[in-house]
Amino acid sequence: MLDRLPELIDPVTFAERGRELSGTLQLSDLPRLSEVLADNSGTVDIKLVFDMDGKIPRVSGKVVSTLWLECRNCLQNFEWVIESDVMLAVIPDLDQIQLLPDDYDPLLVEQEKIAIKDIIEDELLLSIPDFPRHTIDCESVLANTALIQADDSSMESKPDNPFAVLAKLKNTGD
Ligand SMILES: [Zn+2]
Repeated sequence: MLDRLPELIDPVTFAERGRELSGTLQLSDLPRLSEVLADNSGTVDIKLVFDMDGKIPRVSGKVVSTLWLECRNCLQNFEWVIESDVMLAVIPDLDQIQLLPDDYDPLLVEQEKIAIKDIIEDELLLSIPDFPRHTIDCESVLANTALIQADDSSMESKPDNPFAVLAKLKNTGD
């Protein structure tokens, strides 16, 4: 196994040889992804296993990262945790997509080599929601932030759960 990721790989040869790759990429090295991030500092951890599934060269593994996105509702930044399972079948042309089993995504490799960066960048872009926003409702996130800033005695750096905040708001509202 290599600690440093090679820039270009030949996924078919890797699959025939049963190679594994693991390492870390800087998010700032991924320009298409950087465009949609609120902040592109940070890294992505990668582990990829290349092998053959019958006649299909396969790339499987995991892509793990935490991305900063901007909530489309309240325009605050929030963390989006990605732990994406990769399951790709290497195909030389798009006609072969129909022949793939359902659990595979196609990895089109028209020339012999492909940049690892591109595989990872596509995987991350697919893991970002079309409409990024807080998974709990924004107002409680904002109210929570305000309460923590107002309460100097609070030793908690992490927000309370939203229900506790709602209960507090109810009490003070009376
Ligand atoms: Zn929000």
